[in-house]
Amino acid sequence: MVDNTLSPHGGQLVERLATQSFSASFHGSLKSIPVNDQIARECINIAYGVFSPLEGFMTKEDVDAVLEKMALANGYVWSIPIVLDVSERDIDEMALVEGDTLLLTYQDQPLATLEVEQVFPYDLEHMARRVYGTMDESHPGVVRTTNLKDRFIGGKVSLVNEPGINPPFDRFWYPPAQLRNMLADKGWERVVAHQTRNVPHVGHEGFMKGAWFASGADGVLVSAVIGEKRIGDYIDEAIVLAQETLRNAGYFGEDVHATSVLMWDMRYAGPKEAVFHAIVRKNMGCTHHMFGRDHAGVGSFYDPRASHQIFQEIPPIGIVPVTMGEWWHCPACEGVAYEGLCGHRDRKLDLSGTLMRQTLEQEITPPFLTFRPEVFDVVKECTREYGAGSSFVTQEYLANRRPVITMLPPGG
Ligand SMILES: [Zn+2]
Repeated sequence: MVDNTLSPHGGQLVERLATQSFSASFHGSLKSIPVNDQIARECINIAYGVFSPLEGFMTKEDVDAVLEKMALANGYVWSIPIVLDVSERDIDEMALVEGDTLLLTYQDQPLATLEVEQVFPYDLEHMARRVYGTMDESHPGVVRTTNLKDRFIGGKVSLVNEPGINPPFDRFWYPPAQLRNMLADKGWERVVAHQTRNVPHVGHEGFMKGAWFASGADGVLVSAVIGEKRIGDYIDEAIVLAQETLRNAGYFGEDVHATSVLMWDMRYAGPKEAVFHAIVRKNMGCTHHMFGRDHAGVGSFYDPRASHQIFQEIPPIGIVPVTMGEWWHCPACEGVAYEGLCGHRDRKLDLSGTLMRQTLEQEITPPFLTFRPEVFDVVKECTREYGAGSSFVTQEYLANRRPVITMLPPGG
């Protein structure tokens, strides 16, 4: 047994599971409210400690501290508010008061209880401006925030019903306690996390390999973000199965690469989201986290290096950022090259999203320049099997996809 990894954020892994003690008859007596996909994912993350040291949705003191000091009220670094929003009307209709226990339901099943500590309004524009540094409505995070309902409920969350994770994601989803055990079983003491929402092209592979060298890690843990999808994103199934293929096809040895998923709705908060990603991967047991160009950015809202610089500006959080620049295809070097090494900048072939898209949609570019052939094959398979003919999210995919989570009756 390896004396594995660093301690979770806040020192202790939060675990708030009440699945044994919850009885279905009890649930009829509670005030209850259905939650959306995002809140359901966040309840699950709180309960399994992905968001340690958070034990519930934030109170006003925590939200204020996050916005003003990039820390929780207790002083631990934290960059993104985690809030449960409800309409004032729903609160009135339930006659919800502080001290109540509220049942949160999802897919018409009990999911979690919330000990209502505080019900409060919040200035959503202020919140958006502080998190994203803009109020521009072309920023998807700004829209997400300003669309929140007019009251927040703060309080501790306990999961009363474990979510069922559907294939193919079930093989890749580990609560942090299990993930830490898995990393220990592999003998990985140094683990570098790779955040992704992409099918890996050869540049991503170079990025992971570069970070493995730079950090001296025992292994690379891919942490694929599975959450709300936007039209044009890669489909989730292709992202995780293509990552697994890199290892299965030997581009990574079997003892240096593993794939996992994180259920999270991207905020596109650039540097602040980078800090959040680092904290979450620390809780998952990683010692290092790679950050490429424009990490978690959108459009041109953030300087491409902002997600690197922010780690100079905050106290150490106990996970080491591994920051890197751009990887491209270089015909002179005959392969993937790194901006810090290759001297043929004028001949570089960008591994851009557009190029990748054309490759997959039209099969016109030789895959060996872009995708590994096995990756290309598995993506085409996913396109047929899950994507309704596209490797990218379409309305049809959103309407017909099998959900990642299925809730069954408690004890069922
Ligand atoms: Zn070169």
